[in-house]
Amino acid sequence: MLCILSPQTRLLGPCLKRKVTYVAPLSALHSIANLSPARPKVNLTPLKRFPALNRPFNIRSAAAAMSPVTQFLNTSGEADPVWVHQVPYSKHPEFSPLKENIETDVCIVGGGIAGVSIAYELVNRGFNVTLLEARKVLSGESGRTSGHLANALDDGYTEIAKKHGKENARIAAESHTWALNRVGEIARNLDIECEFRYLPGYEISQYNVNHPGYQKEIDSLREEVKMAKDLGLSVSFHDDLQVQGWDSGPDQRGGAVFENQATFHPTKYLVGVLEWLRKQPNFNCFTDTRAVSLTEEGFEVLGFGKERVTIQTENGQKVTANQAVQATCVPLQKLAVIAQMEYNRTYCIAIRVPKGYVQDCLLYDQAEQYKYVRLTECDDKDDYLVVGGCDHKVGQEDTGGRFAELEQWVRARFTRAGSVDYKWSGQIFEPVDYMAYIGKNQGTKHSYIVTGDSGNGLTHGVLAGKLIADEIGGLKNPWSQLYDPGRMASLAKSLPSMLSHDIEINTQYKRFLQTDITDIEDLVPGTGGVLNKGFSQPIAVYKDEDGEVHENSALCPHMKGVVCWNNTEKSWDCPVHGSRFSKDGVCVEGPANANLEPLKKRKQQPV
Ligand SMILES: Cc1cc2nc3c(=O)[nH]c(=O)nc-3n(C[C@H](O)[C@H](O)[C@H](O)COP(=O)(O)OP(=O)(O)OC[C@H]3O[C@@H](n4cnc5c(N)ncnc54)[C@H](O)[C@@H]3O)c2cc1C
Repeated sequence: MLCILSPQTRLLGPCLKRKVTYVAPLSALHSIANLSPARPKVNLTPLKRFPALNRPFNIRSAAAAMSPVTQFLNTSGEADPVWVHQVPYSKHPEFSPLKENIETDVCIVGGGIAGVSIAYELVNRGFNVTLLEARKVLSGESGRTSGHLANALDDGYTEIAKKHGKENARIAAESHTWALNRVGEIARNLDIECEFRYLPGYEISQYNVNHPGYQKEIDSLREEVKMAKDLGLSVSFHDDLQVQGWDSGPDQRGGAVFENQATFHPTKYLVGVLEWLRKQPNFNCFTDTRAVSLTEEGFEVLGFGKERVTIQTENGQKVTANQAVQATCVPLQKLAVIAQMEYNRTYCIAIRVPKGYVQDCLLYDQAEQYKYVRLTECDDKDDYLVVGGCDHKVGQEDTGGRFAELEQWVRARFTRAGSVDYKWSGQIFEPVDYMAYIGKNQGTKHSYIVTGDSGNGLTHGVLAGKLIADEIGGLKNPWSQLYDPGRMASLAKSLPSMLSHDIEINTQYKRFLQTDITDIEDLVPGTGGVLNKGFSQPIAVYKDEDGEVHENSALCPHMKGVVCWNNTEKSWDCPVHGSRFSKDGVCVEGPANANLEPLKKRKQQPV
């Protein structure tokens, strides 16, 4: 399936513009042993704006004290995102695992922004809500995001209108505007200090004004401005647009200005909402509780009888619910929507800049793997410029070199940039027709899904709160048909790109015939590789820093793709549908709903 885009496609969405078919030689995937994730600078300066967090803590020692398993229960990678600078994992709300069978009105699976937003809306409407989380709350992509809240959608309204029609493009604009405002409203209502603020969003060319490609990008930006204005957004084109602080490098002036975009500190916000939720009598949450299946059972005819959903957990307990929601970022198992998405990794750095030096705005360029930029609080002296980009398909390219590229990009433009304190990557998903899938799962009566961030997963997650709460509460929502997981018309328009994506996905099975390593001895401590001897199943071998060798099956439990070693995040990533596993084999990203099958663990003998 996926994303073959017209040259005019606009292009701002982590992933969208890539037409990658290149598959890195597997040897390359494993030759990147020494990329050490950035370690944060110790910050002992009292924080001014966040009195509740005014206790100094030493991130370096907190991280060092963490066992490898704990890291992957808290977040989906070895590298920590900048958000831990002010909200370490130890400040995330803690809940206990489910220990007995329970019944509830609505069971939500997944404790990220989608799950928390749906819980918030339903609890407010009086439903009994149970939230299940396989690891710790906020351990998924919501903890690793960059936190732009935009109605300047990544795929561009010109392209969205081509797939969905202009009226639906208007609905997209209206509903995302609602979602970004909703975050501000909830933060205000619950008194959550989360850096929420409105600011302008700038879209600029990737090229210098003298470059031959510059004018074409400016023309397509002007076209986008016209379309967005028609849809009711406050947007204009400025020939002389320049970002304050951009004091060197290429002159990329001129661009679209979208008013009333927003940003926030994602984990401060979500921790605040979860703290409020835990005080509500009609809410409970269980962590370290993986859902392994959701089944609709019972019989219902003309209002008689009762169908319910049984959510079976890995630990053996079950939740029986009137309605269930998969807010697991990617739905579990083999649903049709999984085949309608492209799975990408995107990279971010947080680099110090003196306070007031760089303008507080959201910034995007038009590159195929575009850069996305924002500011967040660091300390009394500096802010962090959070810069993202360098996307590629999961498990299909070398993960090395991406952080260096981002850093060079910043230093070439913002000469007063200081140290890079955080470097991390995360997973993003691109539905073939650009809009997330939110609503009742195809072929079910009481089961809902939310997936397909399309570069705007935060607003899509918040929006899921309204769409799903409205549907469960029996309210007709005029936006719901655009996000319906069963929609057909826009998907039909995307058939050619779906086919080419399918072909590409199937070629990933070639890894059955390949091996990354020929001898475990050759693995550098702290790295992994797949050992495929050809006569038995391929083995995912990880050698830890002490030389202990951990062996798991290299077959992804979802559809038996052979996983690849991701040396940046020390994880096993499946190139087929993007499932990911920690170095120890713990599932951190679906659609797989189980861990890699453990084989053995042994200490390597000294030679
Ligand atoms: C680097 C990066 C930058 C981004 N920037 C932006 C941005 O600026 N703006 C924007 O709008 N979007 C952005 N996104 C996308 C956005 O962050 C995500 O789409 C969004 O956070 C996903 O939220 P979620 O709740 O759907 O999933 P998640 O936050 O991943 O939560 C899903 C949860 O489900 C749990 N789970 C999974 N399987 C099970 C199971 N079987 N049982 C129980 N629990 C389970 C997981 O452990 C996880 O905690 C970015 C993403 C990345 C990675």
